[in-house]
Amino acid sequence: MNSSINRQWRLAARPVGAVKETDFEFTQESVPSPSQGEILVRNIYLSLDPTNRNWASDNSYLSPISIGDVMLGATIGIVEQSNNDAFPKGSIVQGLLQWQDYSITDGSGLTILPNIPSIPLTAHFGLFGHIGLSAYFALLDIGKPNKGETLVVSAAAGAVGSLVGQIGKIKGCHVVGIAGSDEKCRWITDELGFDAAINYKEEYVLDSLTKLCPDGIDVYFDNVGGEILEAVLNLININARLVICGMISQYNNTKPQPGPSNLSNLISKRALMEGFLVLDYMQRANEAIQDLGKWYSEGKLQYRIDLVDGLEQAPSALNKLFDGSNKGKLIIKISDDPSS
Ligand code: NAP
Repeated sequence: MNSSINRQWRLAARPVGAVKETDFEFTQESVPSPSQGEILVRNIYLSLDPTNRNWASDNSYLSPISIGDVMLGATIGIVEQSNNDAFPKGSIVQGLLQWQDYSITDGSGLTILPNIPSIPLTAHFGLFGHIGLSAYFALLDIGKPNKGETLVVSAAAGAVGSLVGQIGKIKGCHVVGIAGSDEKCRWITDELGFDAAINYKEEYVLDSLTKLCPDGIDVYFDNVGGEILEAVLNLININARLVICGMISQYNNTKPQPGPSNLSNLISKRALMEGFLVLDYMQRANEAIQDLGKWYSEGKLQYRIDLVDGLEQAPSALNKLFDGSNKGKLIIKISDDPSS
């Protein structure tokens, strides 16, 4: 990487269907200098998230990214120049910056990460950060799992889902995960301790759920929406909680899809279905970090990272989340990690 050049992925077109590389333009400019109150961050890691697809559209929960602007992304980086006393040179920072080598910011929304040698920087995406907070708060605040209840989670071998299932086991639930390959199903049962797994690409999900959830479903952690949500709705118990964290099966849709045909089960089962957005929980991050860190150090939580080398890979790598070829938290390595 030439340190005088700032490479950037700019949004070139609103994606239609799956993201294409031509929806972005790879541009270069000189590395900018920070003004008073600003810092220059060299981005080290870029988190690729399914919601990046939503951000590139014009109906996101964030303000739309204008065509021609540098794409937004969650990053971890190092402060290389500082005109802001709150962020001294050398600080490692995490926050919402951009798909580029260097970002200028006044530090709004950035967190300085602690220097803990036993915690790799990538853990701040794989275990903590928006992934860990989503799994922790969406499951515990909305799903409210109780010992002995049945928890079902979709995209169960992914970044969020794999943590959700493990937290469910910590809370004493019977946990069934739904994932898209035999390898993923083996990982979540044999390595992570889920009670059972369903390969939704090979099995008829409703039949398998009926077999594996003999007492019905008390908590459903939804990462995918669509047909899997409909199958789960058939088996919910009275007072079930359905946590709507994500709907990845819908993000590439080019036209609105009909909703589940059996939503009326929410009435007969007096069930709760509630959406979750991690941005609402940032102020409570430390609660989650403390528990997640403790469980990790006790060997009760595992995570895996899918690291792709090179900023130039970002648009094509994003599709790994949609074809299921990512194995764990998908991260782009942009530049040298001083801690590794
Ligand atoms: P991830 O699970 O690591 O990766 C996405 C996974 O989704 C893929 O590996 C794939 O696994 C599965 N998938 C893709 N298309 C699918 C389809 N049509 N049907 C079923 N499964 C499909 O990603 P993540 O970052 O942890 O995100 C998981 C979900 O949580 C996403 O919906 C995301 O938007 C959501 N999320 C929400 C928040 C929030 O604040 N609400 C925060 C973070 C994440 P398979 O091989 O199993 O198909």
